[in-house]
Amino acid sequence: MAISPENRARALQLAKELNEINGGRYHDDGTPKTFDELEIETNALTDLLSSLALNESAKDLPKEEKPVRCPKCKAVPKPHDADDNEPIVIQAARGEVEWMNQGYYCRRCRRSFFPSTG
Ligand SMILES: [Zn+2]
Repeated sequence: MAISPENRARALQLAKELNEINGGRYHDDGTPKTFDELEIETNALTDLLSSLALNESAKDLPKEEKPVRCPKCKAVPKPHDADDNEPIVIQAARGEVEWMNQGYYCRRCRRSFFPSTG
């Protein structure tokens, strides 16, 4: 994915905010942080941001394009109900991500299924 100049400028603003959140270049007593300390703080915060961003994108459930069918009996399930969704917690490279799995209930089989997991 190519990052546009506009989005690079937005990222720079975010980087400045992250630096503020981390407390900047100096400890509270005025001594400068080492590069190692800065890197550890920055990595912890960017890992958190990565996890939060993935969680935000996981909230975007896919639009239904074709009719969903039960994988066992091929019946069309009852209309989708958010109560049939199931959260899944994934351990991603940058932290934990909670993914909402869109679920359906087949009345014939009397079971829930999740098309996104096959
Ligand atoms: Zn079924």
